[in-house]
Amino acid sequence: MVSPLHSNGRAELQDDKVVTTFGDLAARPDLRPELLLKLSGKLQTTLDLSQLLEIFFNEIQQAVLVDGISFVHQPDNLVFSLGRNSVHSASYRLQSHQDYMGDLTFHRSTRFREHELANLEGLMTTLVYPVRNALRYHEALAAAFRDPLTGAGNRVALDKTLTREIELSKRHGQELSILMLDLDHFKLVNDEFGHSMGDRVLKETAQCMTSCVRQTDMCFRYGGEEFLIMLSNAEHAGALRIAERIRQSISALMFSGEKGPLQVSTSIGVATMHLDDTMESLIQRADKALYQAKRSGRNRVVCDTDDFDLPEKQPLAR
Ligand code: GH3
Ligand code: MG
Ligand code: MG
Repeated sequence: MVSPLHSNGRAELQDDKVVTTFGDLAARPDLRPELLLKLSGKLQTTLDLSQLLEIFFNEIQQAVLVDGISFVHQPDNLVFSLGRNSVHSASYRLQSHQDYMGDLTFHRSTRFREHELANLEGLMTTLVYPVRNALRYHEALAAAFRDPLTGAGNRVALDKTLTREIELSKRHGQELSILMLDLDHFKLVNDEFGHSMGDRVLKETAQCMTSCVRQTDMCFRYGGEEFLIMLSNAEHAGALRIAERIRQSISALMFSGEKGPLQVSTSIGVATMHLDDTMESLIQRADKALYQAKRSGRNRVVCDTDDFDLPEKQPLAR
């Protein structure tokens, strides 16, 4: 059973006129069955949400002229706009049973008439299942790039994202910095408080890192208790400030276990992109700075520009 997306059973026009669409007096869709069939067929050719909306936008013009459409699905952070954003709009909520599938808005420079709204509603019934499938596909893809324990991006996501971000930053002449973090003496947490407490600490410290950065900055799990944070548009001094904020926030976290309270600390290496950097060279500088932070006592931030002379890597003394 498909229920067309609507907001509270009404289509709301921006100029405060409210049109009841499902009342006895409401206009009924007047659409050629061939059009609906053709539209349904085309919508089944892709699982890509933006392609789906583009097909829908182009095909519905045969029945109702629309200047633009926009689609928002907040839980998955998805926003798409096609065409023009005109004065008049009609918004609908796409929903099948309890399944929320996003909000769709039609834009036009002239007011929508009642029979046109009825037709849009008829056309939208073809969207419900394809959008649901596309959302599931999107969510499955997103999960493939996420570390299940901490919710941070995984190594696959890091490689893709950081490589692209380095290219973009070079092209647009923007600064880019990364932080390499490693929890201090984490083996002891597992040994003394148990592995599940270790997992909890990893999860909560990852949340703490995310809460210290902007929404556009991204956090990845680099290895067991190592994380990498990509700070877009952040120059050296800014990155250093954020690193220090994260270090302090993590050391202020309080965990309570059966064996009493627990606090953890983290060491952080900071590196800012050079024009000739690759992903590997940038990560290597952050890693060296992190290693220096460990060597000089842990629970501290060290920058790639700090004056330090590293010997060949050797086991760190406790
Ligand atoms: P350092 O200060 O030098 O970084 O010491 P450390 O003890 O943190 O470093 P070490 O590399 O010796 O130990 C890392 C520990 O992290 C060992 C490993 O068991 C633990 N670990 C890695 N991944 C996970 C995980 O997913 N869950 C839990 N609970 N522990 C993990
Ligand atoms: Mg480590
Ligand atoms: Mg460690």
